[in-house]
Amino acid sequence: MIGERLHRARKASGLSLRALADEVGVSQTTISKYEKGASMPSSAQVLKLAKVLGVKSEFFFRPVKVQLKGVEYRKRSTAPKKLLAQIEADVLNQAERWTSLLSLYPQQPVPEFSLPAGLPELISELDDIEDVVDHVRDTWDLGLGAVPDMIDVLESMGVLVIVTSIDVQGRLDGLAASVNGTPVIVVSEQWPGDRQRFTLAHELGHLILHGRLDESVNEEKACDRFAGAFLLPRKSVQQHLGDRRSRIEPRELYMLKHEFGISMMGAMMRAAQLGIISDAVKSSLFRFFSAKGWRTREPGDAYPAETTYLYRQLVYKALAEDYIGESKAAELMGMSTYSLREERKMGGMDAAAADQ
Ligand SMILES: [Zn+2]
Repeated sequence: MIGERLHRARKASGLSLRALADEVGVSQTTISKYEKGASMPSSAQVLKLAKVLGVKSEFFFRPVKVQLKGVEYRKRSTAPKKLLAQIEADVLNQAERWTSLLSLYPQQPVPEFSLPAGLPELISELDDIEDVVDHVRDTWDLGLGAVPDMIDVLESMGVLVIVTSIDVQGRLDGLAASVNGTPVIVVSEQWPGDRQRFTLAHELGHLILHGRLDESVNEEKACDRFAGAFLLPRKSVQQHLGDRRSRIEPRELYMLKHEFGISMMGAMMRAAQLGIISDAVKSSLFRFFSAKGWRTREPGDAYPAETTYLYRQLVYKALAEDYIGESKAAELMGMSTYSLREERKMGGMDAAAADQ
């Protein structure tokens, strides 16, 4: 088991076989043999490997519990293989922490993902997706307004959302996979919120639409349509923009962006999809956005990034309910027992301390 875990730790660190071999002071072949399980490192070498790779040496000896399956990248990813391997290794490590946390619960604290009942069996055109979204939002009690927290919505439906801190360098648009049967969606903590949210909604689109689309309907386009509609539903667009417009002010799109957490470009696409603006108006807005450089970077404040609280909440809940003790909780959160105790005491967070 040390081989597979060594391989994963090396991928997560972004080091090549040679680079790791040089750091540890052995040959490339030796590292390769360790990874293939053809030979075992001595305990001194295990310590060196752990130090170079930034893991505890126990990491190498834990049994492999999780496997990433059906990995799919949104759009054609331009990320180099090395970066993708690094992201996948980070996802596996985080998924493994999840699995071990959940195994400490007597009853599962998060539901198993299931599709809303009553979805159409065949979707024959993109416009039909509007009804599908209304149905999903209705089933999940989301109403017609903005979704304040996409990560929270997906987590409460049993999707595992992983926020990676690996620097994706703008070359990755999203990743979906499954771990032990649970759907996983990965977003980067470095993306602005509207981009994270669009990716999350797009991947949710795959979960819901896959296998239901007529062969004339492109799945990627369908999921983009799903994402736009999920973040900014038909009725809301009509309420805000009206049924038919001859022009739209960029400031209107900016306000929609900040109310609904969708890019200005995404909001404009919604107006076009729903026939509120003509193709000619859409094209002229596109040209205007391009000329201003807004297609690369939209003007004004960014929409704030989302974060996930669920993992830490579940660690605290397990601690409160006595399923685990302080040292296990600290281990699960990757902190020292001392730091955990300070956190538990809400150290430095009293109202009196905040006044000073
Ligand atoms: Zn996709």
